[in-house]
Amino acid sequence: MDWRALDDRILVKPGAEAGLMTRDPVSADLFPDKKAAEKRCAECAEAINVLQDRLWAERSRALLVVLQGIDTSGKDGAVRGVFNACGPLGVSVTSFGRPSEEDLAHDYLWRVHQAVPKRGMIGVFNRSHYEDVLVVKVRKLAPAEAIEARYEQINAFEKHLAENGVAILKFMLHISKDEQRQRLQERLEDPAKHWKFNPGDLEDRALWDEYQAAYDRMLTRCSTAHAPWRVVPADKKWRRNAIIGAIVHGTLEAMDPQYPKPDWDPKSFAIE
Ligand code: AMP
Ligand code: MG
Repeated sequence: MDWRALDDRILVKPGAEAGLMTRDPVSADLFPDKKAAEKRCAECAEAINVLQDRLWAERSRALLVVLQGIDTSGKDGAVRGVFNACGPLGVSVTSFGRPSEEDLAHDYLWRVHQAVPKRGMIGVFNRSHYEDVLVVKVRKLAPAEAIEARYEQINAFEKHLAENGVAILKFMLHISKDEQRQRLQERLEDPAKHWKFNPGDLEDRALWDEYQAAYDRMLTRCSTAHAPWRVVPADKKWRRNAIIGAIVHGTLEAMDPQYPKPDWDPKSFAIE
């Protein structure tokens, strides 16, 4: 499938209801075949690396990739699957956990703005400022009116970034409740995955419906022309990676970063 047709299927149209409940976390028709999806993802990863080199050489724009999703939705796996061909020089990954005392002494976008990639870089957010309208809303960590005001504040923040050379791709990794149960079970059963298990994940799972509602609201309120949301069917890890890879690749290709023309003539130099 052409990446724009794929994109059209998963995009949350700005101004429209996201309708998260009606979106299928499997969507088998998007990449029906596992082997073909893995091949496409590997090709995209290679192409992303080449385009990142051009982005760095051009040094005038950045790409910010935001990954959001509940526990076990595959945010880490998506980073590994899509950016594994990129050298460590060109891609920065920032994971946003519970805010520190220092973070909390500032406004909630303070730590986020500092992590925005500089010109020439791809920056990946593993969780993001959206936690401030998700976990903070569901667990009532801030007053309701303060949270309500954040959707528009976030839209304004992202507009500011977009108008200053930062292209923004936002992916919500959408898994089913049953898939989450299986993935949490694996974390309990496999000693190599015990470290990923956190009893707090079960408290969040008990709030499944509240989280889905908060995600739906966030998608509807913050899918904008300058930074639209995509809902990625993520029950299959290989399909999730193929979809994100194809869209990151397509977006970079459309940005078409250029190597700068030297202001000297290569033929005028001779190396002894
Ligand atoms: P993990 O991604 O498994 O390492 O967990 C990070 C934890 O930090 C998750 O439980 C998030 O909900 C939590 N977290 C991230 N950002 C915030 C925030 N702004 N306020 C409160 N908790 C947060
Ligand atoms: Mg966790």
